[in-house]
Amino acid sequence: MTERSLNAVDPEIAALIEAEERRQADTVKLIASENYVSRAVLEATGTVLTNKYSEGYPGKRYYEGQQVIDQIETLAINRATSVFGVRHANVQPYSGSPANLAVYMAFLQPGDTVLGMGLPFGGHLTHGWSVSATGKWFNPVRYGVRKDTGRIDLDEVRSLALEHRPKLIFCGGTAIPRTIDFPAFAEIAREVGAVLAADIAHIAGLVAGGAHPSPAGHADVISTTTHKTLRGPRGAMLMTDSDEHAAALNKAVFPGLQGGPHNHTTAGIAVALHEAAQPEFRAYAAQIVKNAQALADELMARGFDLVSGGTDNHLILMDLTSKGVGGKPAAQALDRAGLETNYNAVPFDPRKPFDPSGIRIGTPSVTSRGMGEAEMRQIGAWIDEVVTAVAKGDAEDVIGRVHREVTELTGKFPAPGLS
Ligand SMILES: *Cc1c(COP(=O)(O)O)cnc(C)c1O
Repeated sequence: MTERSLNAVDPEIAALIEAEERRQADTVKLIASENYVSRAVLEATGTVLTNKYSEGYPGKRYYEGQQVIDQIETLAINRATSVFGVRHANVQPYSGSPANLAVYMAFLQPGDTVLGMGLPFGGHLTHGWSVSATGKWFNPVRYGVRKDTGRIDLDEVRSLALEHRPKLIFCGGTAIPRTIDFPAFAEIAREVGAVLAADIAHIAGLVAGGAHPSPAGHADVISTTTHKTLRGPRGAMLMTDSDEHAAALNKAVFPGLQGGPHNHTTAGIAVALHEAAQPEFRAYAAQIVKNAQALADELMARGFDLVSGGTDNHLILMDLTSKGVGGKPAAQALDRAGLETNYNAVPFDPRKPFDPSGIRIGTPSVTSRGMGEAEMRQIGAWIDEVVTAVAKGDAEDVIGRVHREVTELTGKFPAPGLS
């Protein structure tokens, strides 16, 4: 019996997947947290591994039939420890948010104090923001950035740590355009006896490729997603050098928070880590940063205000206040022009979270397509043209023209994994 294909069984979903594939191919994706996985990662992810239950860890499972799964998970673990230079890795967290919750579960009791970066300053929800379980079930204290520099104020972090004595400190975030000073955070954590968790969800690929300093040897725990700059499937990992911390994290992930791991994802993560260990990935990581800096330079030359005045990594946070446009209408107009971004709060944003002052853009995806600095300057020009037209209240013609030019460009740079 030959089984019917997706197209035959469910033409509605098949058509929508195809439409999304076309959309991803035709747009310039500037969403800083996204990427294109390789065909190899896609293949590993869409496999019969999804059929298997394997609660537990390699060699200690609750179901039989783990002859193959144990080898896959062990490979993923060994590749993670090798790429990131750590002794232990847990590759089972379903995504970044559950991975971070596992960090709380491993080291805190409900009501204990956590020090994390506030969401509006670039921190993540799971670093103790109020609407998150981590902000409701624990006692969050938040640090931000300096108003004059747009950069993390380590003196503020230290004095908050000394005052509140957190059990856990998070560094890293979702909208931080500057290098994270892991040794400085580690010193503060040591001084107050806190566990330091470096959340490198956004920058893991840069760390793996040597384009951002590594938290290894500084942070007690490293938490990361696998689907952002690291260019793997949606998933997460927790890493540490300490045997004791590793045991606590493993127990927190399973049975603390999760049941069976998603083995098809584990295989995809293993493939992504294999790719991240290749010399080409170092070149990729370096190019992400070069591209972000070229795009930042172009935008600044065109009068855009960038939070912190530029970028050290893959990410740019634009404050559109001086352009007289909100982040949301600008992001919506850019999307219609084929330039995909997200509206984002900027530090000390006077506007509401659903209608903030900024736009966040990033270069991991365009770099995966092989674009370089020349294309970044073109993209900067398009952003300027669209935003300026929106400010004037007459953007339709500009959006139409830019969209045609964008499609011409994307046609020349096929995205990995798309047919
Ligand atoms: C994306 C991100 C997460 C959460 O990852 P999800 O997979 O969306 O749950 C956690 N922390 C940081 C810093 C992130 O950027």
